[in-house]
Amino acid sequence: MQISTGSSELRDITKMERIGVHSHIHGLGLDERLEPRGNAEGMVGQAKARKAAGMILKMVQEGRIAGRAMLFAGPPSTGKTAIALGMAQTLGSDVPFTMIAASEVFSLSMSKTEALTQAFRRSIGIRIKEETEIVEGEVVEIQIDRSATGATKTGKLTIKTTDMETIYDLGNKMIDALSKEKVLAGDVITIDKSSGKITKVGRSFARSRDYDAMGADTRFVACPEGEIQKRKEVVHTVSLHEIDVINSRTQGFLALFAGDTGEIKPELRQQIDVKVAEWREEGKAEVVPGVLFIDEVHMLDIECFSFLNRALENELAPLVIMASNRGMARIRGTTIRSPHGLPVDLLDRVLIVSTKPYTEDDMRQIIEIRCREEDVKLTPEAATVLTSMAVSTTLRYALNLISCAQVLARKRKVESVDVEDLRRVYIYFQDEKRSVQWLKEQQGSLVFEEMRPENSELMDTR
Ligand code: ATP
Repeated sequence: MQISTGSSELRDITKMERIGVHSHIHGLGLDERLEPRGNAEGMVGQAKARKAAGMILKMVQEGRIAGRAMLFAGPPSTGKTAIALGMAQTLGSDVPFTMIAASEVFSLSMSKTEALTQAFRRSIGIRIKEETEIVEGEVVEIQIDRSATGATKTGKLTIKTTDMETIYDLGNKMIDALSKEKVLAGDVITIDKSSGKITKVGRSFARSRDYDAMGADTRFVACPEGEIQKRKEVVHTVSLHEIDVINSRTQGFLALFAGDTGEIKPELRQQIDVKVAEWREEGKAEVVPGVLFIDEVHMLDIECFSFLNRALENELAPLVIMASNRGMARIRGTTIRSPHGLPVDLLDRVLIVSTKPYTEDDMRQIIEIRCREEDVKLTPEAATVLTSMAVSTTLRYALNLISCAQVLARKRKVESVDVEDLRRVYIYFQDEKRSVQWLKEQQGSLVFEEMRPENSELMDTR
């Protein structure tokens, strides 16, 4: 079977587009020592959790934490999702980050375990090295390796032609010049094509080992005999899931754009795993374990949890980050109650990071950041009132009111949202506490408000 990566079509969709409520988050806001900075990269407060996330991230970047799991546990609106997204922003662009809500796993088009398998494989990157043609205008490096003496000399050559004959010819001339000691390692030279005259145009700031640090990916390597080998490497990263879909006869890569990739046969996945292992052995590919974020993880059921337990042991497993705002909760699919609604054997293997309710000052700063993000101005009094609303209701409720209040301010033809605008939106839109209170007052007048005993299991997840 011919296994293809189809990388060029896919490069743009390896990361999800994230806009909206978390669009102000640009990272974890940590310094080099992983200490949280006060208000940085859109992040405020939650110092311990951010630091813990930064430590885990460091391990991911060093490729040391595949197959591990962590759980953000804390009350609603305490930044669990925000921190996970901050982690995603900090990861390199070729480290895959997949985010799912646990309820997405329950779909009619595929089984729960297939949905989870796809999410796992989306979170594993395969960094593939490919050789490509040299193109006009590129700078290539000429290196002469005299292995016997251990000396390596390097020069740079700007290619002004795509004719390979000429390139080899010029390259050979340059090797000659290098070996005749006319040119020192690091010199930048030009070679006249017709006369073969070599002109020194200056010294490169970089020595040969610096070229590696610069990530020069184009070079001619001269073997001791003086022969030139072309070696231009281009590296791109695709996810294992993308390789699965492209090679799936029933789907084809266009399914990736539609998002509906259907089920993929386990035999195909096995073949791909074997192929990837071969590529790794041949030095053509590297595995990049990424991150799978499962929000509202308590919505998974016992079968999914048992799948997770097993999948984490697979050699090709990503770092799994889970988030839950539940305390003691029933494990779905059972009658057992457990912390965060997760079975204890799974809990036992995860690193748990707790997020705490925000202080008033943190909330004020988050509101300020969001106003800037949404391009909304608040008068100083309105900022104080909105902060106290966040304290007495929830942060998320207060953040939701920002744009609603702006609509009213615009109607009044004023630039800044004032206390009166907030007062009115507070009346129009209820927060959770007032909504519950209202339900109590309306008892009996709403339709289907009582659960039948046989359905209570389905509805009660707390
Ligand atoms: P839930 O349990 O309800 O899913 P959560 O803990 O995931 O809540 P978030 O959705 O991350 O909470 O936070 C609510 C809002 O507050 C979001 O808009 C988020 O971006 C913002 N936010 C939360 N924490 C921070 C923070 N530390 N710095 C800046 N913004 C934050």
